[in-house]
Amino acid sequence: MRPYFLEEYGNASSVHAFGQRARAAVEEARAEVARLINADPAEIVFTSGGTEGDNTAVLGVVEAAETPGGAKYVVTTAIEHPAVLYAARALEERGVRVTYIGVDAGGVVDPEEIAGAIQPDTVLVSVMYANNEIGTLQPIHEIGRLARERGIAFHTDAVQAMGKVEIDVRELGVDLLTMSAHKICGPKGVGALYIRKGTRLRPLLHGGHHERDRRPGTENVPGIVGLGAAARLAHQHLADDAARVGALRDRLESGLVKAVPLVHVNGDRAHRLPTTANLRFAHVDGEALVIALDLAGLACSTGAACSSGSLEPSHVLAAMGLPREQARSSVRFSLGRSTTDADIEFALEVIPRVIERLRAISPRYQSQKGFTAENAGNAEKTAEVYRRAR
Ligand code: PLP
Repeated sequence: MRPYFLEEYGNASSVHAFGQRARAAVEEARAEVARLINADPAEIVFTSGGTEGDNTAVLGVVEAAETPGGAKYVVTTAIEHPAVLYAARALEERGVRVTYIGVDAGGVVDPEEIAGAIQPDTVLVSVMYANNEIGTLQPIHEIGRLARERGIAFHTDAVQAMGKVEIDVRELGVDLLTMSAHKICGPKGVGALYIRKGTRLRPLLHGGHHERDRRPGTENVPGIVGLGAAARLAHQHLADDAARVGALRDRLESGLVKAVPLVHVNGDRAHRLPTTANLRFAHVDGEALVIALDLAGLACSTGAACSSGSLEPSHVLAAMGLPREQARSSVRFSLGRSTTDADIEFALEVIPRVIERLRAISPRYQSQKGFTAENAGNAEKTAEVYRRAR
């Protein structure tokens, strides 16, 4: 990215040589992003990130759609990222009907429910590829097939899935797919939207003729170059990363389940990204745990980073049927290409210690059968007490 900040700072839309060198870099990045999902480069539109991609897809398809009586209907899910959920709410305010399909206890959508919700005036189905809080993969192939059979536009938010699982848009049957650079080690504030050729879409922004009239505005050349490089690396390392990181994540989970009493893994363990672990620790406040772990040098989060600070428990865990208290005691750990064995060892050493400390000051935990002040400082004894209590 650095040369495109300092030396090659031409505007990619200018005709002079300076501009054309920037244009070449943008087109190279477009080809890299297209390769990652098996798209045609002409189907890739650069955006300012996942939020813009989701809004463009959801609002843009619905606004461009025409139905016989003018009524429009959208089917999405209750576990979408706020960038889709609130775009759908904005449509509701404009008179569009929207159904938010629920998920099972593992956080997975049933394609049959999507099929059952579709009505004659359905203009869009939007279902995320992988959930950002629990990592569950959704049955995108099946949903794509049923949307295609009915001639309905299908959007998937693949911000979490891109570069972590194989994505082939030709095979998937999606019409629009959202991506964001910072989820694959790229820069923040840049992303891309795949728009299948022939998809009707009204642009979100009004302005110049950039990005084939689908997204006006001078291109963020350094950001786009960074996204292209990140996409190339993700493509090269995908299979190795998935296997290695998945094994680390499994080690983290099984290590915690073994070392800490009353721990549960949230989400369907068979259909998940390799990079996400969402765990709930009974009688521990998730926010307190995040802060205590941060002080110990371990970064994790409750819910989505963009919703942190909110007092409401995660809408995703609520949709899975978790009571408020369980949702509030849940924490998400994210792993990636740079995560090492030593990181997992460190986490397995720090987390049980911090949990034990927090539980020692939790009145709910202490009032559990057999728990006394004397054994408050001893993880082994605590575990024993809980084994008996269970
Ligand atoms: N969609 C999902 C699933 C996400 O996880 C995120 C970001 O966390 C977004 C959309 C928004 O992307 P961005 O932060 O690039 O706007």
